Amino acid sequence: MEAAAKDSDLLGLYQEIILDHGKSPRNAGVIENADCRSDGKNPLCGDRVAVTTELDQQQSIADIKFDGKGCAISIASASMMTEAVKGLSITEARLIFEAVRTICSKEASVLDAMQDVGNKLAPRLEKLASLSGVRQFPARVKCATLPWHTLMSCLDGKATASTER
Ligand code: ZN
Repeated sequence: MEAAAKDSDLLGLYQEIILDHGKSPRNAGVIENADCRSDGKNPLCGDRVAVTTELDQQQSIADIKFDGKGCAISIASASMMTEAVKGLSITEARLIFEAVRTICSKEASVLDAMQDVGNKLAPRLEKLASLSGVRQFPARVKCATLPWHTLMSCLDGKATASTER
């Protein structure tokens, strides 16, 4: 197969795991009666994603789904995110979010980021390592981080709502 240079760059970016998640997204959909919901958009690329989560008594993420329309990177990142944060506390989800933001936008090594998040979260972060490929493509960084920002908004919304309970 002939591939232009740009395509081969994209092949490097859209590694196997990203392709897989882009084609067969995990946890796609909307949770009815979700504890929180947030809608995110990335006007730069046209990506949209809605994140709904269900929290358990310990305020851990018992369930999470995303409903997205957009490029393969945004869908893959959302899919990978739902797998990565399910079962985590809100604090842990924030740690993973910060680490993902770091590996997607800075020249930080994934191994360093894994050390920073600690033993429990490191294996989850490792599965997200392929997202770090977007930093070679600054225009795509927001595609990868959109679902994560949306999740943070979702969890922030939950925190605000819980003071009224
Ligand atoms: Zn995009």
